[in-house]
Amino acid sequence: MTEFSETTEEYFVPDEKNKLEKGVLYLVATPIGNLSDVSDRCRKVLSGVDFVAAEDTRNSGLFLSRLGIKRPLVSYHEHNKASVGPRITERLKNGENCALISDAGTPAISDPGEDLVRLCAEDGLRVVPVPGCCAAVCALTVSALPTGRFVFEGFLPSTPRERRERLASVANEERTVILYEAPHRLRRTLDELLEVCGAERPLSLCRELTKLNEDVRRGTVGSTVEYYNVNEPRGEYVLVLGGKSPASEHFWDNMTVSDHVDYYIGQGMSQKDAIKAAAHDRGVPKNEVYAEIVKNK
Ligand code: SAM
Repeated sequence: MTEFSETTEEYFVPDEKNKLEKGVLYLVATPIGNLSDVSDRCRKVLSGVDFVAAEDTRNSGLFLSRLGIKRPLVSYHEHNKASVGPRITERLKNGENCALISDAGTPAISDPGEDLVRLCAEDGLRVVPVPGCCAAVCALTVSALPTGRFVFEGFLPSTPRERRERLASVANEERTVILYEAPHRLRRTLDELLEVCGAERPLSLCRELTKLNEDVRRGTVGSTVEYYNVNEPRGEYVLVLGGKSPASEHFWDNMTVSDHVDYYIGQGMSQKDAIKAAAHDRGVPKNEVYAEIVKNK
């Protein structure tokens, strides 16, 4: 029996559920900055598994030693996942169990854990979640923006073309959008959001959640850009962007089809991609956009 609500039947079975099984990958969420957010189950699983796979073994070694836990660590990250992933699943098939942790938060959310879970699924291996912090969910819940329908976009792509396309889709999104961003790229991303979403779009900027300098700035894209024009971005950020109001205008509403295509060309797209992007925005076939351009030439 546990200390949880006595009215919820499910809370009476976890002792059985909490026994560690062999051949299982445990996805163990860890704190995003506040060690007190470590759960009892997180400690138990990390103490009991045969080995821990971690993105950064130095950080994770420190984390485990703060908890007084000593387990063998295996490095598993973006640059070695192709070779290390199969080695981990091989060990699971041979009857070991493993806890996967990321640098912070929930593994497989914006980190290579996603690939290891897929490998396990392909090999018929069990993957068990040990839930806890996720920066995206923490930010959404304190954003004061609608939480009923939301999309998680993680980090915007870095290649210019993909980035432009993603920004255009973010601008047209009616649900609340959650984005991750590094401090040194925050200003650029805010400027881009200003361009595609306009100054009035609501934005809650959540910084250093669960840490000493936790800060939630609820405003608009415009007010946030102004703030960071004079203040240096520092720490970790989640951007929670209000969805486009269904009644609000698209940034291209007052543009002709040709102007709309020219806008994307001006952003660096080829004519072909610009036609594709404009067609996507307008929800019409590409050849319709192309025909319109030819007609106006
Ligand atoms: N797996 C993690 C999770 O569950 O949230 C996310 C990992 S992702 C590589 C790291 C990003 O998460 C950071 O760049 C930042 O955008 C966000 N993040 C992590 N910790 C945060 C915190 N304490 N406050 C605000 N954002 C945070």
